[in-house]
Amino acid sequence: MPRLVQAVSTKPKRVAGDFSAALAQRLAKIGVHRRMDLVLHLPLRYEDETTLTPIDAAPLGVPVLIEAQVLRVELAYRPKRQLVVHALSGDTPIALRFFNFYPSQRAQFERALTQGELVRAFGEVRRGWFGAEMPHPRCRIVARGTPLSKALTPVYPTTAGLGQGTLSTLIHRALDALTLHETLPTSMLARYQLMSFEHAVRALHLPKPTDDVQALGQRTHPAWQRIKFDELVAQQVSMRLHYLARRERLAPVLSRDGATMRQFLAKLPFQLTPAQQRCLEEILVDLNAPHPMQRLLQGDVGSGKTIVAAIAALAAVDAGAQAAVMAPTEILGEQHHRKFSEWLAPLGVRIAWLHGGLGRKEKRAVLASIAQGETQIAIGTHALFQEDVVFQRLALAVVDEQHRFGVQQRLALRRKATAEGIVPHQLMMSATPIPRTLSMSYYADLDVSVIDALPPGRSPVRTRLVANARRDEVLVRVREACAAGQQVYWVCPLIEESETLDLQTAIDADAELRACLPDVHVGLLHGRMPAVEKAAVMDAFKRGVLQLLVATTVIEVGVDVPNASLMVIEHAERFGLAQLHQLRGRVGRGQIQSDCILLYAAPLSEGARARLKAIYELSDGFALAREDLRIRGPGEYLGERQSGAPMLRFADLTLDEDLVPVAREAADQLLQDDLPAAHAHVERWLGARSDFAKA
Ligand code: ADP
Ligand code: MG
Repeated sequence: MPRLVQAVSTKPKRVAGDFSAALAQRLAKIGVHRRMDLVLHLPLRYEDETTLTPIDAAPLGVPVLIEAQVLRVELAYRPKRQLVVHALSGDTPIALRFFNFYPSQRAQFERALTQGELVRAFGEVRRGWFGAEMPHPRCRIVARGTPLSKALTPVYPTTAGLGQGTLSTLIHRALDALTLHETLPTSMLARYQLMSFEHAVRALHLPKPTDDVQALGQRTHPAWQRIKFDELVAQQVSMRLHYLARRERLAPVLSRDGATMRQFLAKLPFQLTPAQQRCLEEILVDLNAPHPMQRLLQGDVGSGKTIVAAIAALAAVDAGAQAAVMAPTEILGEQHHRKFSEWLAPLGVRIAWLHGGLGRKEKRAVLASIAQGETQIAIGTHALFQEDVVFQRLALAVVDEQHRFGVQQRLALRRKATAEGIVPHQLMMSATPIPRTLSMSYYADLDVSVIDALPPGRSPVRTRLVANARRDEVLVRVREACAAGQQVYWVCPLIEESETLDLQTAIDADAELRACLPDVHVGLLHGRMPAVEKAAVMDAFKRGVLQLLVATTVIEVGVDVPNASLMVIEHAERFGLAQLHQLRGRVGRGQIQSDCILLYAAPLSEGARARLKAIYELSDGFALAREDLRIRGPGEYLGERQSGAPMLRFADLTLDEDLVPVAREAADQLLQDDLPAAHAHVERWLGARSDFAKA
């Protein structure tokens, strides 16, 4: 393989030389560091200032352009400080109101008044108590008879102290000063029928009167297509470059036919599904290479990722090295510890659990055993990657529920490199199902394996929606399930604003259930309990001593108690779709038919109704993910953490789905055929921002 990676220059060429320090600072706030950034600072939307609208004809809620003569300029203080410009448009008086304004603006209007100039104001006309008014319009002072603009007016994203006028002047200057050469080869442009780069940016900054208003505004114009394509290619190239750079580093070669792994495979507690086998195979091939694996193991809730990780860990053990397994919560960490011990301790594997409940002395002992290599598999929360944890020879790091961890934690993990720059293999796991195009975009810097089938014998969970008014019937159902030897989760409502309230609802629910169900053994679990107590409650539930577990969402991820067959979620309307899916995934893990009862309080908002309908109708995580993405949009869907997210400003992964695979293909080709061009392309589009991909 040719050496693909050279340092991407991320030092922006400053525009500071061209502008005052104050202006440069404001520009930096909107992400403009170089003149090329000005060219790529594309309009947020377009406004139609090609016609004047008489005030009486102005439609409600739609901004229009009016022209008016200034009558009086007033500084008013009620209800709050504001500049009011009283004006006359045709025969109709109108008040223009400004709540944020500069003294210079006031002076401008006063000058217009004395010199008989007109004001052109763009905004929504409202009808108030005292006649027509326009709150915070965008204004221009013009001489009588000044022609209207012939084309749409671009409106740019901006920041305080940087007006549209200044910004557009700077942008036009940059457009004239720079040579807007192509970064993509001509053959590629022809192949995908793309407009030239120069043509595209000019079309967007300087729309022509004949341009399609709709296409420009809704970003479907061919010029936007070119921009989005370039941006997506830049994202792909940048992430692939980081992937390849990491790939160049050295990692221990882990063989797949060590004694412990063979022993374990011979006496697995169950037969792996074909999907598990395929993913395991992909992982073992990676581990056997001298470069660090960077793989994401994706699989719906309950698809059986843990055992795959355990087998992978044995590759490290057999090589005389160590594996680390990081979980997002202590409950999950404890569960992994229990499972790994149950599966692997009989084979003589030494497993340690680093958790918050350890005393100082115990903790020191665990740390020492990790440092001396006595511990072969270390399990813990993010505490595992703090400074004081030193591994003797870490060969594999497993990160469970990786979407729960931040970029910082991923970086810390990578820093656990051992001697001579040898870095551990990385296995990320996630139950957040993600549609294919999203995955191509967000995980372009990872290899992805998907467990796409559940273990056999699972019957789908029945979901029922029950109005809170029928809570009594639900309590009867809970009592019956417990009497029949089954176990029940009762999830308390989520209270976003307040952790204290959140806790209180759990305590209240616990008290209510104990009072109503005196013959049932009830346990309470919430995030604020000390780790030891949490572990004790969870343990009692696992052993069946507790029949009903009242919990906050701490049980959301990963908890596995196959005998639990009923899940009640209170105020289900407050939960997100992914969360409901995760919670529901806690039941239906054994042979018993399981139910999930979603209690809701009417009336439902439109969003809540859509979510409950989706969770009721769909059980497949991927189908739910699509629906969730449709309801929420990708940014919110994946959260800020996901590395690719901040790189996209123009392409929209829901609307521009079709472009993603094409951009991926183009990026691969560019990397293969013309590496300098690939770098130039990333530099143009991402500049300093390509740092995001490093995590
Ligand atoms: P997740 O992918 O959500 O982390 P787990 O690894 O916790 O799922 O597995 C869910 C349950 O299914 C566990 O009880 C696990 O032991 C069991 N399991 C995993 N794989 C299989 C299989 N091939 N056959 C039967 N049960 C399995
Ligand atoms: Mg899991």
